Amino acid sequence: MAAPAKRQTDIGPPHYEQFLHPVIKKNYGTWKYHESIKPGVIVHVAEGGDKIFTIRAASPRLVSTDFVRDLANLADKYCEGYLRFTSRNNAEFMTAEQKNIDPLIADLAKLGIPVGGMNNSISNIVHTQGWVHCHTPATDASGLVKVVMDEMIDYFKHEKLPAKLRIAVACCLNMCGAVHCSDISLLGIHRRPPKVNDARVTDLCEIPTTVSACPTAAIRPAVKDGKQTVTVDDSRCMYCGNCYTSCPAMPLANPINDGVAIWVGGKVSNARSMPAFTKLAIPYLPNNPPRWPEVTDAVKHLVEVYAKNAVKHERFGEWANRIGWPRFFELTGLEFTKYHIDDYKLAQKTLRSTAQIKF
Ligand code: SF4
Ligand code: SF4
Repeated sequence: MAAPAKRQTDIGPPHYEQFLHPVIKKNYGTWKYHESIKPGVIVHVAEGGDKIFTIRAASPRLVSTDFVRDLANLADKYCEGYLRFTSRNNAEFMTAEQKNIDPLIADLAKLGIPVGGMNNSISNIVHTQGWVHCHTPATDASGLVKVVMDEMIDYFKHEKLPAKLRIAVACCLNMCGAVHCSDISLLGIHRRPPKVNDARVTDLCEIPTTVSACPTAAIRPAVKDGKQTVTVDDSRCMYCGNCYTSCPAMPLANPINDGVAIWVGGKVSNARSMPAFTKLAIPYLPNNPPRWPEVTDAVKHLVEVYAKNAVKHERFGEWANRIGWPRFFELTGLEFTKYHIDDYKLAQKTLRSTAQIKF
């Protein structure tokens, strides 16, 4: 009997192997070493002598189809059609031809796209959806990323930091970005509990779902003027916005009180020291679009103090741990406030590492 035809399905992603550059596929698992050629360019050399060159370019993450077409055209021209995006949204071009590197970089420059983000530099900033897509943000993730990277572009293009530096932005403390484990993290924070619009609760919300949406059990069913509604115990609220996800009659965005907190010292890597969560450096900076000058100044200042004081290969958190956090606050000139003291019982050591800041 003939073998049954292979089942065709569109469930799940296609196998990654079909997207590998032929040189990578041929030498899979047999790479001997890699080395930097210049900022943003790296070569991998296989045991058999094959080479693949990777050129890393910046991307704004929220991109237009025109932008993707431009990248794809360059990949067709120089990279046999192969292009990939890293988890921090850098665009990486791979070519087996060393002679393609400089013309590719020149064409990227014509499009205004810088090359860099490798080794001891700031890589692209990973960020969440912000005001464009999500409903609970306290700030605009992509706007913040744009202004911070405008300020830090030199650190993307040149490898002049003691070690790599990863920046992340999440626009609320649900943090679907990597702000819990990046060297410098910008976190949008609400500072007031949701305001319940009692007149609309029964129209827009299912009360049991709303009550159970709250991770701190701050929401209780209630009756006001004969109508079913909910109340919020402000002392339990951590301003996460989960209730607003379930119940649009509980908005908590606030143009005056929402803002940005800055956390530092996290990392995912286990090189030299354990992976670490970020700790609170600055509890609140105002939301000041479109350029967020307070936030960009603070990030620049933190990067400059780190660059000046850390030793070679030391990540941001390793530096702060080595000199001690009191010294970190001294060197950076940041104020140590009551918000830095974490009373969450599973908090790490002495400095705040949970995302809840009670204002
Ligand atoms: S971090 Fe929060 S507000 Fe931002 S996209 Fe994620 S869930 Fe939405
Ligand atoms: S914002 Fe979060 S903690 Fe506060 S009431 Fe809503 S779900 Fe609960």
